[in-house]
Order: sequence, then structure tokens, then C-alpha cells
Amino acid sequence: MMKILDFFYPPYCQLCGNTRNLQFKGQLCVACAADIHINEHACRICAVPLTTVGLKAENLADICMQCIKTPPVYDSCWSPFVYAQPLEWMIQQLKFNAKLNYATLLSALMQANLPRYIYEEAKPDVIIPMPLHNRRLKQRGFNQSQLLIQPIAEALQLPLDLKSCLRIRDTEHQTGKNARHRKQNIKNAFKFINRKNYQHVVIFDDVVTTGSSVSELSRELKRAGVLRVDVWSLARAEKIN
Ligand SMILES: [Zn+2]
Ligand SMILES: [Zn+2]
Repeated sequence: MMKILDFFYPPYCQLCGNTRNLQFKGQLCVACAADIHINEHACRICAVPLTTVGLKAENLADICMQCIKTPPVYDSCWSPFVYAQPLEWMIQQLKFNAKLNYATLLSALMQANLPRYIYEEAKPDVIIPMPLHNRRLKQRGFNQSQLLIQPIAEALQLPLDLKSCLRIRDTEHQTGKNARHRKQNIKNAFKFINRKNYQHVVIFDDVVTTGSSVSELSRELKRAGVLRVDVWSLARAEKIN
């Protein structure tokens, strides 16, 4: 059934303006959807995209050198896309230009790529979207991670917890910082009280870059007695130093 609004404002592709062959809630055409980099060859632990040139040791085990040397605090990471254009632009439209329709689109993209094991494995107790500091939340008006994961949590019948975990330090933007500085910057940024005695938690963050934020949050969750922490994110950046 055609909605009345569609008659006046026909849906179109958010990237190229095409009005035909639309997918993903009528916001992306088939050709543009094909331009999005799927994170096909990723580290089995931290989901960092593995390069196909050189680095043969990594490719053989499908575990990156970083995880071989120092495994992360979290137990696994699932990240269906590589943080690259045109996805990067769409995420920025959502976060920095408050184009909330991109949340619906990006969430639908992610849902279409959910791996089967997410349904088959032991279900986590809860999903915690990466919390924003109150000041940032007020500035932005929404938490993009919450908007992105909400439809998926509903589809998987998993609860979201927006209360137990707080970002207590208003840290500087991680953008432009190297791995070591990011780690320093995010230290002790979270406070989590395990009131409901969760054993298995999923953290959702829109983009995982070096993994310093999700690692710090995982550390705080484990300190409070959580036994298993899985990280889900929309996009995983290629390795930066
Ligand atoms: Zn298009
Ligand atoms: Zn890894």
C-alpha cells in the first residue's frame, strides 16, 4: 500500500537520489548498497579488518597480531562493515547533523547482515549501548548507539539497559588521537553498577576504531562481575597506530 506521504515525497536513495530499486526502508538503492564495504575478512576476536596483502601470519589464523600479543578484555567483537565511505558519511550525517532517518537506514543495513550464530548462541542478558556523557547527550539530543541498536534488540527480543552504566568523565573526542592517547583519554570514564547481576552483556558502539572505549567499558563491566562481554558495532575501522 502506498502511503499518502510517499505520493508527495517519494522515497529516494540517500546517496544518489535514485527513486528506483530501493532497499533498507526505502532509503538506499541496490547499486549504492553494493558500495558499502562488508567486513568480510576480519580478526575472529576483535573484528579488525585483515589486509589481504602481506601479514600472512594473521591471515592463516584469522587472528590479528594485536590479539595474538595481547587479547582484548572483551570476549568477541562482531562488526559487519568496514568504516569507510560511503558508510562513514552516513554515520556522520546521523551523529553530527542529527539526520535521524539515517539511524533507521543503518540499523536496517546491520540487521540484514546479522550472522546466524547471533540467534543460535546463548543469548546475552542485555545490550548496553555505549553511554554518552550527560553533557554530550544534551548537546546532541540523542544517543546514536541507542537509536541504531534498538530495532535489532527488539527483533532479537533482548532488553536494552540505559541506566546501569554511566559515562562519568566528559572525555575529549577520540578523533585524531593515536591508540595510546585514546587509551589514556578514556581511562576510568565509565561507572557500572551490576544491580541486575548480569553475567553476559553485549556492548553496542556505532564505530569501533582502536577499541579503547569498548575495552575500557568491558573492563568496568568485568570488574562488576560480568563474566562475558561481547562487542557489537556497526563499523570497524582499519588499524591505526
Ligand atoms: Zn543510490
Ligand atoms: Zn584482533
